Amino acid sequence: MVSHPDDETFGCGGTLALHASRGVPVDILCLSCDPPERRTEITGAAEELGAREPIVLEDQSVVGSPGLIRRVSDSIVALRPSVVVTHIPFDYHREHRAAYEVVKEAVEWAAHTTMYAEPCVVERLLLMEVNTLIPTPHVLVDISNVIDEKRRAIQRHVSQLSKFTWGYYEEFNEKKAELRGVQGGCAYAEAFMEEPLPRSGPFYPVKSVSSLL
Ligand SMILES: [Zn+2]
Repeated sequence: MVSHPDDETFGCGGTLALHASRGVPVDILCLSCDPPERRTEITGAAEELGAREPIVLEDQSVVGSPGLIRRVSDSIVALRPSVVVTHIPFDYHREHRAAYEVVKEAVEWAAHTTMYAEPCVVERLLLMEVNTLIPTPHVLVDISNVIDEKRRAIQRHVSQLSKFTWGYYEEFNEKKAELRGVQGGCAYAEAFMEEPLPRSGPFYPVKSVSSLL
């Protein structure tokens, strides 16, 4: 669940492609799209990654309004993901930080029995790095086998690549995947933080566990 077209590829495209290649349904929810033509780019990137048709909310910018939070929680309940990936809260980009707040709150509301007849309890919320790097990753995903899919998806974001004539995005993403690969003991990787989710309280379908094992 990302702020703009291209975040899904730069931040977690390899991880999406990896799971899609294993037959796991992969959905992309993009909170804004400006200009609207970027929808074509994210659709093309999703094809390269093996994800399903992206859901694009065509707002011009990400504003953490109750209405947007509700649209996202409704999407979570409809799509029923077990893992959600979004932005880190200390990203340099204001709209990425806004997306983090929106998605985190939507994950919470989607799990409430008081909100939905069939709430969706997301099991894991992972936070990705786009241009701001994570100092201490919690999870490194080996994307060595799908790096070409990620490279092809990057090429579909033509409007963004054309901003820099010296190939900034291609180079940055290549080096980032190599760096995380060195840390992860593989050729290429993607890094994530894990966000703990509250699960004790009156609002959840399951309120307690019988064992820690
Ligand atoms: Zn973005």
